[in-house]
Amino acid sequence: MDELARCAAMRLALLLLVSLVVAGCVPRGAIPGRDGQPAAQALDADHPMTLQCRAELAGDRVAFRTVPDRLNENGCSVLGAVQLADIGTPSAGLGAMKCSLARQYARWVRDIVQPAARQLLGSPVARIETFGTYACRPVNGREGARLSEHGLANAVDVAGFTLADGRRVSVLEGWNGADERVRTFLRTAHRGGCTLFRVGMGPESNALHRDHLHFDLGQGRYCR
Ligand SMILES: [Zn+2]
Repeated sequence: MDELARCAAMRLALLLLVSLVVAGCVPRGAIPGRDGQPAAQALDADHPMTLQCRAELAGDRVAFRTVPDRLNENGCSVLGAVQLADIGTPSAGLGAMKCSLARQYARWVRDIVQPAARQLLGSPVARIETFGTYACRPVNGREGARLSEHGLANAVDVAGFTLADGRRVSVLEGWNGADERVRTFLRTAHRGGCTLFRVGMGPESNALHRDHLHFDLGQGRYCR
């Protein structure tokens, strides 16, 4: 092979290598993030970070099943998600959740909600009521707003708790209700959620959140 041919072959090989590396850098099924970068939350079911997360869920003794990846219309997607089956406390209304969201939710229930309920209300939580996880809609349901983290199965809305002794605690009635211990419990659950999720919103964030606590693992940090 003469010098020119060898040089051309090397250039071709280099080009192939570069395109393979570039292709390998973008997770399959990646969707653009807010700054045009692939969003961290676009990790799919086979991404190493998703596999790591599922191992962590299992390590936390959480029972779950894997949800198949799907890209929906309007930019919504369910990628690298799981369906929680047993985290030790039944939670009603949970749908598909991105694995990292599910992991943090299970830890929030175990490490924040249950200890706070025992300490402040004198009874563990027997059941958690949620308004769900995945929903393909813009932020706050406003037309033209950016996609809600719910559209990526990356958010959960918690509406209330049933205690083992039968009492019911709802965000709507309890947040500014007469029982100071309930008010403290709900604020502890909210503030504790802010340390485990990236965004935590409750009744003091806006009127749309008067009846639930919203937690998500989107970009940015916000706690109100
Ligand atoms: Zn929400």
